[in-house]
Amino acid sequence: MWDQDGRRYLDGSSGAMVCNIGHSNKNVLTAMRRQMEKSTFGYRLHFETEASEQLASKLVGLMPDGLNRVFFVSGGSEAVETAIKLARQHAVSTGQNSRWKVISRRPSYHGCSLGALAVTGYDPLTAPFMPMMQDMPKVPAPRAYLDGLNPDDPATGAHYANMLEAQIQAEGPNSVLAFLVEPVGGASTGALVPPNGYMERIREICDHYGILLIMDEVMTGVGRTGAFLGSDHWDARPDIVVMSKGLGAGYIPLGAVIAGDALVAPILETGGFAHGFTYAGNPLACATGLAVLHEIEMQGLCANAAAMGDTLLARLKSLMQKYELIGDVRGKGLLTAFEFMADRDTKAPLPPHLNAHQRFVDLAYARGLIVYSRRTRGGTEGDHILVCPPLIANTQHIDEIMHGLDASMAQFSQDIHADLKA
Ligand code: PMP
Repeated sequence: MWDQDGRRYLDGSSGAMVCNIGHSNKNVLTAMRRQMEKSTFGYRLHFETEASEQLASKLVGLMPDGLNRVFFVSGGSEAVETAIKLARQHAVSTGQNSRWKVISRRPSYHGCSLGALAVTGYDPLTAPFMPMMQDMPKVPAPRAYLDGLNPDDPATGAHYANMLEAQIQAEGPNSVLAFLVEPVGGASTGALVPPNGYMERIREICDHYGILLIMDEVMTGVGRTGAFLGSDHWDARPDIVVMSKGLGAGYIPLGAVIAGDALVAPILETGGFAHGFTYAGNPLACATGLAVLHEIEMQGLCANAAAMGDTLLARLKSLMQKYELIGDVRGKGLLTAFEFMADRDTKAPLPPHLNAHQRFVDLAYARGLIVYSRRTRGGTEGDHILVCPPLIANTQHIDEIMHGLDASMAQFSQDIHADLKA
């Protein structure tokens, strides 16, 4: 990217983990132009369009078996709201009126509209609005690295998954509708990869209690983690998949909610889904999404994300050896992150007044590298930097990213150590 003064930036965060196929892809622009010349709107209740039908079929082919019904929306928050309402209407239409609670994790981010915010575990964003929404139960995200547990040990996965079971029992199993989870954590937990056994065990628990498993793949979907869905890495088939970011890939607002016939049929038999946004299934958005998926497939970008992700993660681990302020490195595919700590042994975060994550972003930006940062650990402490280049990244791009990170870390370490002494 170049700014108005001609300064060049390497987009090391794909915008906000959106621009997976890079900017200005010619094939996508051509598909958009063609669709614009045909039609840019067809009201969902009047017409199905060729574009929405084709994209739905394409998506179904990329889903785990049995997830064959697609509902389009225009973004991630809309998709999360839609999934929650779909789950609830399934419960109502099958005589399970008592089920309405959606359990999610803390920290987590699932969107900014009130329904999506109610299932978001991130106090700085939720606190002002609490009186206006139904607070939903949260369980701790499986941050083995903070709790000193070995993520490779299946007992660790079971330890965190069993917290979900305990929460279900505390709530009353028949009041719980769904568990909403990101397969690999995004903005809130900074590329948190679940410990061994976690995903399989949450699937088992959901099955046992008749609870729907909703996978928020807004950030992880469309190849970001090296597989089409983040959840494809584990044996934990979702009941509902929520997608957005990488589907429109920065070319157009687009999202999708995908579920199976068994879930959707009872709703259709009892009057249909009482839900829908005006722009749902917009033909221009769907034609764009279809062109994006063609590019992902044609260029082999899931496999590239896996390979480049391995390289990037290894190199971030070397960076951690060089700079003691980096306390943890983690990720899967091209969803990677590192977290700052004042002390690796105690896991103490850097003091909040240092505003470390923003300072690092600014240092990188001044060196022509864009990265994404957040306060983590519930928003009150800890800083992480997400390094998530587009899935078209090659080794030269990774070299350039590492060069920018190294130069920024050198300055950052000097500045922070000076501030800590002061
Ligand atoms: N879920 C996840 C996992 C996300 O990362 C985001 C956006 N960062 C959302 C939902 C909300 O998406 P949007 O901003 O498109 O509404």
